[in-house]
Amino acid sequence: MSSHPSLRNLFDFSGWVIQQIQVSPAIAVVKLYRDKRRSIYCPHCIRKASINKKTMQSAFDLPIGPVNLVQILYESLQGYCKGCKRYFSIHPPGIDSYAHATRRLMHYVCRLCRFMPVDKIPVFLPISTSTARRWDKRILAQYLPDPDLDNLRIILVDEKSIGSGHQYMTVVINGETGEVLHLAEGKKKASLESFFQKLTSKQISKITAAGIDRDGAYKAVIREYAPDAQIVFDKFHIVGNLNTAIDEVRRSEWRKASKEDKRFIKGQRYNLLRNAHNLKDYQCDELAALFEANEKIFEAYLLKDAFATLWTYVRPKWASKFLDNWIEWAKETELDPLVRFAKGVDRDRNEILAWIKHRVTSAKLEAFNATIARIVRRACGYRDLDYLYLKIRQQAAPPVPQL
Ligand SMILES: [Zn+2]
Repeated sequence: MSSHPSLRNLFDFSGWVIQQIQVSPAIAVVKLYRDKRRSIYCPHCIRKASINKKTMQSAFDLPIGPVNLVQILYESLQGYCKGCKRYFSIHPPGIDSYAHATRRLMHYVCRLCRFMPVDKIPVFLPISTSTARRWDKRILAQYLPDPDLDNLRIILVDEKSIGSGHQYMTVVINGETGEVLHLAEGKKKASLESFFQKLTSKQISKITAAGIDRDGAYKAVIREYAPDAQIVFDKFHIVGNLNTAIDEVRRSEWRKASKEDKRFIKGQRYNLLRNAHNLKDYQCDELAALFEANEKIFEAYLLKDAFATLWTYVRPKWASKFLDNWIEWAKETELDPLVRFAKGVDRDRNEILAWIKHRVTSAKLEAFNATIARIVRRACGYRDLDYLYLKIRQQAAPPVPQL
């Protein structure tokens, strides 16, 4: 064991004096005691107070070179204020009450966790994975700025299945900046209500549009909490519904087709659903042969192709006229899946046409999905949604400073 005077510079805790530093290859122990020349003051009323009790406590600190385990033993005081008749405790600066580590060590762990999986921290520091996770969460919760809720204009709400079971979480992000604003368990009414309950009525009044999936419980919640916000159904979801209808037509035609006609329908599912400009020449030829052989599939395809025009309109009024014609045409085909789709479009026309005005897409949500997959892989898992929320928000924030 040896002691070196210049090491003292590393342990500058104002109000505490270093009694001893012991360093061995395995551990360094730094002993601090309270500077007796300093008076203590009540933190509540700033009056001079008396010491009621002294105890020795310890906290882990940053490694010193090759010495990974550094322990600070310090005198912790319990003070008593006669003025306001209250007890209070005094710790060296940078060590919180009941903390097993200095704040600068927790900041260090938090900085590491930004770039490496949390379960790799024990390779570098003498702490467990769960301790690393707890410290990371604690520092992030203190450090990360709250989401900007004052300038929200467009929100995107989505449900995401988590883990392996049938569990879901509800995600709310800022449709313009991509900032994640809310994560909650489930995909029910309450999962979104808890978001609106965080907002003031002034913040809610600024929201002009809310992008959501077509089905689910979110529509009713938005109507209730943000009645002035226009609901915009996700464009890709609508297109997905139409593709499902087209595929149903294909399958029902397959069932009815003779053995000879079946060979035209066989293997055409993706040719029918893909955008025409993505098809190779031979695939176009296959489709052309199919259309020759089956008029109903051809008609369904023309409808699908025409529907894409909807998204190119700039004025909602003209888009609405187009939609009227399209719905009428779809109904005339008497193809059940398409008639059903057309009726649904008619029913949801306001939410579909709202897209023309707001151009809300789920691209920001796609980016979010990639982020979340990466974070979950880094051993953070889905169990602690509060931690997951902080880890996602951390992606957009500057690094936590080293103390
Ligand atoms: Zn007091």
